Amino acid sequence: MDAVYPPSPSMFGSVPGYEGTVAGGGGFVPPPMPLEPVAPPMPNPGQADWSIPCISEEVAQEAFKRFVSSQCCYSKSPAADGVIRSLEPLNTYRYRLETFTESRSTEWAHKPHQGEPADFYTQTAPRPWEIQATPPKLFTNHTQEIRVPFTASIKECHGCHASGQMPCKECNGAGSKECWVCHGSGNNGGSDCSHCHSTGRESCEPCVGQGTRDCETCEGKRQLLTFIQLKVEWNNWVEDHVVVQSGGLKAEDLSSITGKELFKTTQNLVYPLLGFPDSSVSEASERLVTEHQAKFTQSSSILQQRQTVELIPVTKVNYTWKEGSYCYYVYGNEHQVTASDYPATCCCVLL
Ligand SMILES: [Zn+2]
Ligand SMILES: [Zn+2]
Ligand SMILES: [Zn+2]
Repeated sequence: MDAVYPPSPSMFGSVPGYEGTVAGGGGFVPPPMPLEPVAPPMPNPGQADWSIPCISEEVAQEAFKRFVSSQCCYSKSPAADGVIRSLEPLNTYRYRLETFTESRSTEWAHKPHQGEPADFYTQTAPRPWEIQATPPKLFTNHTQEIRVPFTASIKECHGCHASGQMPCKECNGAGSKECWVCHGSGNNGGSDCSHCHSTGRESCEPCVGQGTRDCETCEGKRQLLTFIQLKVEWNNWVEDHVVVQSGGLKAEDLSSITGKELFKTTQNLVYPLLGFPDSSVSEASERLVTEHQAKFTQSSSILQQRQTVELIPVTKVNYTWKEGSYCYYVYGNEHQVTASDYPATCCCVLL
């Protein structure tokens, strides 16, 4: 084979299934056919446990004290001495849709030739979606690069004209450089420089005085293996919908906490969760399932989808301290707390 780089499309355009592949291109390869939804058994969230776990005053106060002591400068007094007047349950739902996709793209790539056989066209190359690739774990992001069989050929390295060597960048090919102790003068504070024996030069360390180094492209091998590389990407796309309760917390406050799982289903393509007791959960499910299935079948293949409904415990705690009325929220399995009207946020000034 000639030493031509990059391979010209006229040379390699004839690889069946790889006609559009270019060097460094990274062209997306559409999956051969879209998946058809399969009718699943309809979920029955009615069987879930709907009893709402409202925390006790003791648990609320403990969480509140822990929160206050974690805040720089907050006075502990309102948390310790405040009197709880009422606990208001403001529990809410979080609907989550996860869509796990696989996408494939190809590009011409090369690596130092280390004795691999040139198998270009010894057999028909498998098409991008015929190549076996298994994600290590569902619903996690991962990338794998695979050399497509029967596309490899051996080329002379274009980086070093097949010499395997490049001039050393440290010394510009000289093999030596100015002595760092005497800055090239040969003497150091009036006496001879012992570091360079008064020559003013010292040997270049990276190239061991040779002036040349191994070519970075071929790592000194002089030849490159050129091949079509298949890049397989698995992505998990997660979208939440939180039902907002009036007087409750904002959706973003709840992003870091967990709730009680009421419902979970995994399928190739999920069906919207119709008939859920809270209609806004059903609406969110219908909207997100439609959006995801339209969006992700265009650029990738949907392998799995998972939808989850959690009950997020939220309790609004009303309390009084020094004749003022205040409130805080305790939420999530973690008993996280927010208190935007905390009355003593600086212990140095108040009290
Ligand atoms: Zn050098
Ligand atoms: Zn010197
Ligand atoms: Zn080279």
